[in-house]
Amino acid sequence: MSTLRFRVVEKAFQAKPVEVAVPAERPSDYFAKYVFNREKMFKYLPTAVYNRLVDVMDHGATLDRDIADEVAQGMKKWAMELGATHYTHWFQPLTEGTAEKHDAFVEHDGKGGMMEEFSGKLLVQQEPDASSFPNGGIRNTFEARGYSAWDPSSPVFVVDDTLCIPTVFIAYTGESLDYKAPLLKALRAVDKAAVDVCHYFNPDVKKVVAYLGWEQEYFLVDEGLYAARPDLLLTGRTLMGHEASKNQQLEDHYFGAIPTRVAAFMKDLEIQALELGIPVKTRHNEVAPNQFELAPIFEECNLAVDHNMLIMSLMRKVARTHGFRVLLHEKPFKGVNGSGKHNNWSLGTDTGVLLMSPGKTPEENLRFITFVVNTLMAVYRHNGLLKASIMSATNAHRLGANEAPPAIISSFLGTQLSRVLDHMEESSTDELVVLSGKHGMKLDIPQIPELLIDNTDRNRTSPFAFTGNRFEFRAVGSEANCASGMIALNAAVAEQLVIFKNEVDELIGKGEAKIPAIIQVLRKYIKLSKPIRFDGNGYSDEWKEEAKRRGLDCETSVPVIFDNYLSPDSIKMFESTGVMTRKELEARNEVKWETYTKKIQIEARVLGDLVMNHIVPVATEYQTKLIDNVYKMRGLFSEEETRKLSAENLAIIRKIAEHTSYIKEHVDSMIDARKVANKITDEREKAVAYHDTIAPMLEQIRYHIDKLELIVDDQMWTLPKYRELLFIR
Ligand code: ADP
Ligand code: MG
Repeated sequence: MSTLRFRVVEKAFQAKPVEVAVPAERPSDYFAKYVFNREKMFKYLPTAVYNRLVDVMDHGATLDRDIADEVAQGMKKWAMELGATHYTHWFQPLTEGTAEKHDAFVEHDGKGGMMEEFSGKLLVQQEPDASSFPNGGIRNTFEARGYSAWDPSSPVFVVDDTLCIPTVFIAYTGESLDYKAPLLKALRAVDKAAVDVCHYFNPDVKKVVAYLGWEQEYFLVDEGLYAARPDLLLTGRTLMGHEASKNQQLEDHYFGAIPTRVAAFMKDLEIQALELGIPVKTRHNEVAPNQFELAPIFEECNLAVDHNMLIMSLMRKVARTHGFRVLLHEKPFKGVNGSGKHNNWSLGTDTGVLLMSPGKTPEENLRFITFVVNTLMAVYRHNGLLKASIMSATNAHRLGANEAPPAIISSFLGTQLSRVLDHMEESSTDELVVLSGKHGMKLDIPQIPELLIDNTDRNRTSPFAFTGNRFEFRAVGSEANCASGMIALNAAVAEQLVIFKNEVDELIGKGEAKIPAIIQVLRKYIKLSKPIRFDGNGYSDEWKEEAKRRGLDCETSVPVIFDNYLSPDSIKMFESTGVMTRKELEARNEVKWETYTKKIQIEARVLGDLVMNHIVPVATEYQTKLIDNVYKMRGLFSEEETRKLSAENLAIIRKIAEHTSYIKEHVDSMIDARKVANKITDEREKAVAYHDTIAPMLEQIRYHIDKLELIVDDQMWTLPKYRELLFIR
């Protein structure tokens, strides 16, 4: 019998924290060391070129080819000083990861030698042979070209020996094949729509920026233990494993002292993240054992998305240095919390105003309420779409699984804001509201100064909660590209702000004064969007019933949820904001359905394989031992005594037989079900078949495997158990 499990357990127990070399300088000195930011642009580019590049970055001016060459020269010089020998267009295809193809700077020098070369042409545009990226049928095989184009609003950076250039990825015919292109379009749409609305309050506003602060949750597992779990290795989650006797009941992990090996990992990760210009700030233990969280200071949304993609790959890399594997899957372990990625989102102006933040004057508060109410309207009208934007085969294990937000989008506003909206809705005058900010609370402990108490309360069960100066989209999955949710949210808010502006202008056109016109439209929206507001317990069954009555989208089947992208309202919204066309939406849904199918398919194969190669042989071997024992008892005792003394063993022998035959039978029928589903040509129908017939079988089979794990001799069990995966670090 294999002893791999025991060897890896022993080794994991002996693992020591890896020494981390801490830079001599302060973080503020090494921050963005590997980023070609403005400071370096200024140093490495001629002033005229620098000024034009800043115009491109700040005002969306077009980057001319003639300056691109000069920018490329400066970049190359800077990158080579850091030891870079290669460059890559770094893009975000629809696979949830990032893609890169490295080329060396070298070119022939025409004299039989080589020289370092990097032209503006290579910086600005590439044509990756990318026919095997998911495209949902947009690129026909005869026209398999895709183009990547530099996004100057996200700075280039150096990783190891490579200059990485953030790019969009589009088809020959212009459709987006990635997340960045539609995100940039959505951000432009919300910028423009919000600027127009801001002009009711301040004519000086020229730009509105969407901000994103993500909170990344993750698990760490010792590398050896991970390697001994083929399911983790191949699917990112455990497909089997009985709960450990202790898990998170005592709530002793959350915010607890960070284990030393993990602390070393975090320190290393943070140093490298800061060097790449990612403003990481917060780290702590999460609720589940071996679960942790990392959060940066919020940034402009496009940059924040890039930084999240970058940090996920950095985490994978740094974890290995420390003998860990990082699990970004939303639900790696049954029975303990899964991982999410709260997306803190807000809008801010170039005049320095956070639009989701209450103001000091009644007029500022009206602006605040305008943006909050329009956000609520957008979330209400597109709640199904927003759910689709964060849904995946993996996140489905978390949403609605009684520990994370349910698979229903609703918004929590907190007592104060709810009261304000209720008051506005009921009152018939056009009076402006006064909001109280933080208030002081004196404690009866002399050495503790007065505390400033926030007027907002928290509700951890809400998928879209207002938290004082922002909304927190909590349903986003830990593994997801934040862009998906951010595209849907920003585009929906952009559409809504345009509608709002039109309605208000119409009233003004009819002779209504500005403020009463705004209040009138808001009052109507407060009434209309009421069904999306929910301050109660989002985990309760009553809420599911209530949400259904309110007409919110309560669908739980992932492939069916994706239909929301193709509803007439969604298509209209995406097309009117210029974010995506119907053709792009259709193609992307093909990709979503296909990905869903493949994920379940892989899980089914891995489970079948583990069952036949690990579980059944081990259980049978143990059963044979017991049978042997019963036979040998016969040699020592009378028939009657043997029956009495072996009663327990006979019962176990029977149980093992029952479980293994169930498992074997169901693995066979799962294979048959797959054969049937695989014949379906329509991607949506195939995904639905995988959801309805195959996914439930995984759970049913698992139940019996987990029962066997409890019965079979621990010494014989080959796969590391939950208590080992979750508690050794
Ligand atoms: P929590 O209380 O939810 O743990 P934190 O205070 O740690 O949250 O903040 C979580 C994230 O929200 C951080 O990335 C933070 O920078 C970000 N954040 C704070 N204010 C805003 C805002 N106005 N807009 C967007 N993100 C914000
Ligand atoms: Mg949070």
